[in-house]
Amino acid sequence: MYDLIIIGAGPAGLTAALYAGRADLKTLVLGIVTNSNAHKAHLIENYLGIESISGPDYMMRCLEHAKKFGAEYLEREVLDIKHNGEQDFTIVDSERDAYKARAVLIASGLGFKPSGIKNEQPLIGRGVSFCVTCDGAFFKGKNLAVIGSSNYAADEALQLLTYTPHITILSHGKKFEISPKLEKVLKEREIACVETQKISKFLGEEKLSAVEYADGEMQEFDGIFMALGHATAADFATKLGIERTGPQKAYIVSNPLNGKTNVPGVYAAGDCTGGNAQASKSSGEGCNAAIQIIKDLKGIAAFVDYS
Ligand SMILES: Cc1cc2nc3c(=O)[nH]c(=O)nc-3n(C[C@H](O)[C@H](O)[C@H](O)COP(=O)(O)OP(=O)(O)OC[C@H]3O[C@@H](n4cnc5c(N)ncnc54)[C@H](O)[C@@H]3O)c2cc1C
Repeated sequence: MYDLIIIGAGPAGLTAALYAGRADLKTLVLGIVTNSNAHKAHLIENYLGIESISGPDYMMRCLEHAKKFGAEYLEREVLDIKHNGEQDFTIVDSERDAYKARAVLIASGLGFKPSGIKNEQPLIGRGVSFCVTCDGAFFKGKNLAVIGSSNYAADEALQLLTYTPHITILSHGKKFEISPKLEKVLKEREIACVETQKISKFLGEEKLSAVEYADGEMQEFDGIFMALGHATAADFATKLGIERTGPQKAYIVSNPLNGKTNVPGVYAAGDCTGGNAQASKSSGEGCNAAIQIIKDLKGIAAFVDYS
């Protein structure tokens, strides 16, 4: 059991890890440092105290700094979060390992993933869904497709087995990048992974009836679950019932002064909350959220850290 699990190893997540570790919270960061947007920066010249640094050097320094104060770091992608009750969360990663935590900080950065598939928007809620936990039960015994090529798509497909055995993963023009462990489970559970051309269109008037591929060929399905890329802040928010805002409802609504979301025990910081996409802003929100988490978990009204 961890006190705090942080999803995301960018400036927001690692600042929070530094504070939480220093306050002796048992803290785990799950994320991939090299996937942080800051890691992609050629040069960062507007972070106070560091006149000029390359993105990769900056992020490696951030990681070492956070670890110095005791935070653990695992280079893993989070696929799923479950809220079991008060101060009780289960987090599942791409290796199907599960971790328990009393509090969760979502600091997973920007996560836009517009599919570009025609008719997606009008068919959302009419056969096109983004969340198995939320909508799986509407598709009992139906013939379903999961669109995606990653571990996240595999996990969504496995979760669908609760409702139907008729599941196909369509790669949507990409090569599959699913971990051997997950690949084995998919095989055992007879979920078909089909490397397809890009899907150009969803068909159906009142509700989805089929997908149309780039070459004009069609394939019938009763429902589609979108799982492009990896799980984003918006996906976690949907699963946990957190309010979202902004274009495509991609941002988590949180209080910037303390990172609190509308779900007790879940906090958010950084680019995933919208606003200025800057390392300083993300770091600041990570600090605010961590201080609130320390107060909430220790049951103290004030946190002072200048001893
Ligand atoms: C090219 C470029 C140049 C930039 N230059 C500057 C600059 O000069 N100055 C500046 O201040 N800002 C700059 N930025 C913006 C800055 O990088 C971001 O604002 C900052 O990185 C946001 O921090 P974050 O911690 O919120 O998210 P990120 O740094 O993007 O980190 C997100 C983290 O979440 C993890 N994650 C995502 N999904 C999952 C999942 N499902 N499971 C586990 N982990 C997950 C990722 O692996 C990553 O570790 C630049 C951005 C880019 C792209």
